[in-house]
Amino acid sequence: PGLVITVDGPAASGKGTIASRLGAAYGLPVLDTGLLYRAVGVRLARAGGDLGDEAAAAAVARALTAADLDDPEFRTRGAGEAASRVAVHPSVRSALLELQQAFARQPGGAVLDGRDMGTVIAPWAPAKLYVTAGPEVRAERRRRQLAGQGEAVAFDEVLADIRRRDARDGGREAAPMRPAEDAVLLDTSEMTIDEAADAARRIVEA
Ligand code: C5P
Repeated sequence: PGLVITVDGPAASGKGTIASRLGAAYGLPVLDTGLLYRAVGVRLARAGGDLGDEAAAAAVARALTAADLDDPEFRTRGAGEAASRVAVHPSVRSALLELQQAFARQPGGAVLDGRDMGTVIAPWAPAKLYVTAGPEVRAERRRRQLAGQGEAVAFDEVLADIRRRDARDGGREAAPMRPAEDAVLLDTSEMTIDEAADAARRIVEA
């Protein structure tokens, strides 16, 4: 395949912005895989299902297509929480595997943004980033992003969300969030968006 770049990291680390900047810079399609888990959580909840019901969540995941990802509700605070709750189920993760790997294997290359792109989905990718930032920095970024989409949430609550999600994503048995051995760590705590995007390009081109 062409250039494949994996961008992993915790919530609100800046990985989404970095992934889209890299996609624009190299003319590559970008897949935000968090949206897949968000879509499963939201669709299951809408159908009145229980996020802890693995079989029900996996059925929703199997029915999901790339065309289903364009829904503003997937960007809400509640969707992030629902996503991390369905993401612990191994059969949900395996149901979403093929779609993600097909995206990664496009002949022209791709950028994939998530938690396990470098470890599970495309471990063979030639360029891997693991984007981090301190929890307070991430909470403030997420607070501003939510406010910008009309969802006013206090900083302390967003920080608690972030810490809970870090613990769940890092502590689960199925594909726990962690850097691939050959990923380059990029801490964006003290960086502007432009600085982080430049640093990411330097890593990819190194
Ligand atoms: O990146 P985003 O905040 O949209 O991800 C939402 C949730 O989906 C994460 O907290 C994580 O639990 C789950 N996720 C995952 N694997 C991915 C992408 C997201 O488990 N590749």
